[in-house]
Amino acid sequence: MMLILKSFSERISKNLHRYSATSQTGFDARTTFGLMVIGSVVLWPFAIYHLFSGNVFMTTIVGGLALLATANAILILRTEAAPPRLMLVSCVLTNITVLLAAFHLKLDGIFWVYPALVFNYSLVGTRVAVWANITLCTSVLYLAVSWAEWPLWPRIAVTMVATGFFSHIFSSNIDRQKQVLMTLATIDPLTGVRNRHELQLELMKACSQQTRLGTPVTLLVLDIDFFKKVNDTYGHIKGDDVLVEIARLLGKRLRATDSLFRYGGEEFLVLAGGATADGGRILAEDLRITIQNSRPCELSGISISLGVAQYAPPESISEWLHRADEALYRAKANGRNRVELASPGSS
Ligand code: GH3
Ligand code: MG
Ligand code: MG
Repeated sequence: MMLILKSFSERISKNLHRYSATSQTGFDARTTFGLMVIGSVVLWPFAIYHLFSGNVFMTTIVGGLALLATANAILILRTEAAPPRLMLVSCVLTNITVLLAAFHLKLDGIFWVYPALVFNYSLVGTRVAVWANITLCTSVLYLAVSWAEWPLWPRIAVTMVATGFFSHIFSSNIDRQKQVLMTLATIDPLTGVRNRHELQLELMKACSQQTRLGTPVTLLVLDIDFFKKVNDTYGHIKGDDVLVEIARLLGKRLRATDSLFRYGGEEFLVLAGGATADGGRILAEDLRITIQNSRPCELSGISISLGVAQYAPPESISEWLHRADEALYRAKANGRNRVELASPGSS
């Protein structure tokens, strides 16, 4: 089983970019898969035990849950994702089954409430899990009070609440850490714009949109002219401030369908969704004039050069970037502070 988990983890890690593109992360799918495998291993023996004991009711509900856990594990293994709707249905079915077990088996059934309180957090988001746990705990307690004697039912209540709280703190901490990691992985810490990792994902999405739907998309590669001189004259810290200010000015000018990325050093990249090469050139001219007319950090004479390339299927992303880069190189060679258009599909 460890081997299956290990190979699954490796496959998910390799395809992490696919999960980052949706709300589902590799971490979520991996955790849910692990829990589904554990659920299957734990539940099948109980289902078989109930079958041989002739308890049709328990065989049905435990067997049903074991079947669901195994089917989910196979599905996640094959698709490498845990579909949120299926996980919600699994959560509802798990809680109903546990409640039925608590009703039917009394104290023996209540033991299953505890893993369910933890399990809920890996099936659904933290907020839904809180409501699922509150509903499960109050329903179980309502049933327990009718047959459990003092001080058994307060013990059941306290241990259930403690398990729920512990799971909640644990899950919220993971959520917070995931958020921090997502920010670190996707945002350039100096300028606050999206980084190169994000660019790669957006380029892939844009290419597939143009190929499938014919939606045009144009790339603007821009580089600050003679930026080394700024650093040499005013120092690196002032240079950093200029980069931040230029990123702010560029971001202010862009539309909602445009995305700005820091490509590295003093190079930025704009992905103009829905723009043809001509639209991209107009946007590039606007950006160039915006920077030319501004005085970032009170410095005059700051300018940018831009290369513009519309995606031309079936070229690869690197061919597309290469065409935009060549256009930028021409803009530099032709005197800087200017825009050059890449020849369509020239590479
Ligand atoms: P060109 O017009 O040909 O682009 O000239 P340039 O001076 O801008 O280009 P060059 O590649 O020679 O120098 C780029 C400079 O950008 C050198 C490097 O120190 C500076 N730079 C890159 N990243 C950063 C950064 O994060 N902060 C600061 N302050 N400077 C940076
Ligand atoms: Mg430069
Ligand atoms: Mg450069």
